[in-house]
Amino acid sequence: MMLTTHSNTIDFDAAKLQRLGYTSKREPQLLPITLGELRQQLTLLLQTSLDVERIMTLFFQEIQRLVPLDALTYQHNGSDLRLDLGQRGSHSVSYCLNHMNDYLGELVFRRTQRFSEDELAQLESLLAALLFPLRNALLYRDAVRSALRDPLTGTGNRIAMNQSMQREIEVARRSQLPLSVLMLDVDHFKRINDVHGHSAGDEALRSVAQTLKSQLRNIDMIFRYGGEEFLVLLSNTSTEAAAMVGERLRQAVHDLQLSSEGQQMSLSISLGCATLQPGESGDRLQQRADMALLEAKRGGRNRLRMAC
Ligand code: GH3
Ligand code: MG
Ligand code: MG
Repeated sequence: MMLTTHSNTIDFDAAKLQRLGYTSKREPQLLPITLGELRQQLTLLLQTSLDVERIMTLFFQEIQRLVPLDALTYQHNGSDLRLDLGQRGSHSVSYCLNHMNDYLGELVFRRTQRFSEDELAQLESLLAALLFPLRNALLYRDAVRSALRDPLTGTGNRIAMNQSMQREIEVARRSQLPLSVLMLDVDHFKRINDVHGHSAGDEALRSVAQTLKSQLRNIDMIFRYGGEEFLVLLSNTSTEAAAMVGERLRQAVHDLQLSSEGQQMSLSISLGCATLQPGESGDRLQQRADMALLEAKRGGRNRLRMAC
């Protein structure tokens, strides 16, 4: 028996690409084309995505129909965005991209052959087709990122935490690598607010988060779990290694020298550490770390406890 499936989904991006002469399988043909035609096509093509990497890849691919290149580097200062496409070349030309007053990043074209004046003029003209799509993609990227971040501390929020937890558990299962979490809570934080005021409390929370981040690897993830509670996700990290990280975090917060209006503020954190067990859910893992944190509080605070 043959099974036929019908889909009513219309993929507008694919449809547009097809109209422009591309399909997902075929490499774009390097047909001779005029500058005007290419600009027009680029304008349509680059609108099909809100992903900076996709837009740059399309741009790099397409402009080569007029100006052969070996490499393109794109960097956006102030965010961790950097793309390297192609290989290196000894000649380069760079552009700082701005639209109205918006900074859109820096672009470097490279190749082994020198660029002619004509080619530079063509590149500059083609860059105009990149500005709007790039600006939109950067705005979109910003919006997505701030939707996942806690505004006070810059750490991930609960939405980001749940997404990352789910993803990391799947990765740990598939790759059979250990996954550990640290649940931590600032000790006697209510007192900090009472003595120094709420805005000094906010400032202290920001400093604690900054200190925690500075002690972690790039791939570790930190989330604000609640008021003065944070959760750290340590991928590919055994119980022993996680305990060492936790101890390092505890020490770093303890060593923090903070003051408000000349008055010293001493801070400490308590931590609970748990490592994912076979078949365990994210909720259960968090619960075990939370119970260990409670033990650390009961044991006198400013300490780390391991989950059973
Ligand atoms: P413990 O050692 O048992 O954790 O004591 P604690 O005082 O830290 O615990 P408790 O949960 O009773 O109080 C937490 C305090 O953290 C209360 C709340 O006002 C404060 N807090 C939570 N979020 C914020 C925030 O965003 N800014 C400021 N300034 N304070 C906050
Ligand atoms: Mg607390
Ligand atoms: Mg608390």
